[in-house]
Amino acid sequence: MSSEVLYRKWRPHTFAELAGQEAVSRTLTNAVKSGRVAHAYLFSGPRGTGKTTTGRLLAKAVNCANPNDGDPCDECESCQTYKAGRALDLVELDAASNRGIDEIRSLREKAKFAPAGGQDAHKVYLIDEVHMLTEPAFNALLKTLEEPPAHVIFALATTEAHKVPSTVVSRCQRFDFRRISVSDVKGRLRVVADGEDFDVPDDALDKIARVATGSLRDAINLLEQMVDSYGAKLTLENVVEGLGEIIDERSGDLAAHALRGNLKEGLALISEVRDDGCDLRQFQRQVIAFLRGTLLAKAGVEPEDGWSDKQKEARQQLVAGLPPDRILATLKAFGEADLRADPLSPLPLELALASCVLMQNAGSTQTAAPAASAPAPSRPRPAKPQAKSPRPAPPKAKTPPVPAPKASPAKADESKPEPAETKSSIASSGPADDAPESTPEPAPTSNGASDAEPASVQLEEARAKWPDIYKRTREIQYRAGALLNSGCAIIDASDDEVTFGFRHAMLLDRMEGDGGENLRALQQAVDDVLGPGRTVTCVLDHDVEAQRTSRGGHLVRAVEELGAEPLSQDS
Ligand SMILES: [Zn+2]
Repeated sequence: MSSEVLYRKWRPHTFAELAGQEAVSRTLTNAVKSGRVAHAYLFSGPRGTGKTTTGRLLAKAVNCANPNDGDPCDECESCQTYKAGRALDLVELDAASNRGIDEIRSLREKAKFAPAGGQDAHKVYLIDEVHMLTEPAFNALLKTLEEPPAHVIFALATTEAHKVPSTVVSRCQRFDFRRISVSDVKGRLRVVADGEDFDVPDDALDKIARVATGSLRDAINLLEQMVDSYGAKLTLENVVEGLGEIIDERSGDLAAHALRGNLKEGLALISEVRDDGCDLRQFQRQVIAFLRGTLLAKAGVEPEDGWSDKQKEARQQLVAGLPPDRILATLKAFGEADLRADPLSPLPLELALASCVLMQNAGSTQTAAPAASAPAPSRPRPAKPQAKSPRPAPPKAKTPPVPAPKASPAKADESKPEPAETKSSIASSGPADDAPESTPEPAPTSNGASDAEPASVQLEEARAKWPDIYKRTREIQYRAGALLNSGCAIIDASDDEVTFGFRHAMLLDRMEGDGGENLRALQQAVDDVLGPGRTVTCVLDHDVEAQRTSRGGHLVRAVEELGAEPLSQDS
């Protein structure tokens, strides 16, 4: 663990130095300037984004003798006491360790006394991790907030604003701190590095800034760790090596496999990552980050994500022959892989990969390859995303023996949606190993399924409700929802039955397995959305993909879903 020496030493002394929170700085300096400082503020946002620093700066600013446009002068007597950490009118309380009512009571008592700095001074109470307070403590705090002494300002900081009672929130002026952009973090790192006489090239700082994902504290602590390990003259190689276990660039490889439809290589990579004991959730987040960047790159936006310039270049090549909806679908599949239940199981990642590949194969055999997805067959298999990153990258060796690009019907043999083949590949590294073709074909009441003629009115209606059914299922049983989303469609519906077709036997098996829990969830969802009285039937149907896409607004839907929930499902 880092000692945070540098982080403390390089805390901003003025709002002008506060990185990446311009909106907050502007509003607060304006308030100081105009003398309209609120009695209570709530600073919420991820760790390391400057919340407590802002609280201290606010205290310093309101007590500064010569504020400069609302910013503390950093020179007057009062500012000096803040700089030295001995200001009497700033009281900090860490609610994580002082949760109880006694602390808040004594705080209230003290709040009655005039500030040490005289009658024009303000006393600032900075309560960090305020959501940790007990209920009685919150109530005591609320009383103070309702009738705050004139000279008192509360600055409440929290990473989990939703845990702060609304009665408290409503008494505060609220600021949401955003993650700090890579370039802002990098800029601040440059200030620190130069100030400390560290010799660090730009690309090394860039790497650190990216890994820190928006937390300046993490970034500065990482810099400190690197210097502790490698000395004050750092190279990019040092940093990459030092961060080795933090960034796993195989995630980019997996994303590329999924995009190109390399099932075998992708599965091998997943088991390798699992065998290495890597954190699969972190790995998943990196896959998603890479895919997100790919999507942005496809849209012509230069993504600011955790990948180096070289990798981005390789990604540009990768993007060239890909239709955007494939990138979307892949991003979606990995975004929805749910590792929360069992973070050690690679199955959700395998399922995501398999569903991407199956989807592509379906596209190439059924719809004779849309123009956009028919790349020049002679195009060399693009380099791996990180052509020659310093990482040893073992999986690289496994990629070359990859045949021509997918999507050209000619080469379909290797990637054709041949259920038996695919299933056995998955089974090799996942638990879902059942007799492939003996899949419970149309379940009991499936007779309506096969003669699905021109779509009935009921069918149209049921399909229109698909998003609701999907959402409701997911609410009831997350896993069942995920299964619905990986190659399933409503293929028939009547007044007393709704038939769901699954593209792949493995998905159907899982839907019907789990002691019936998934099916019950789906039935419940159908009852809730379409009204009771319709029996849910699940059948195998290889043509599902075509119907899925014909649901319309494929792209729009995907984007909506992407926007509607965080991609990385950390909790
Ligand atoms: Zn001052």
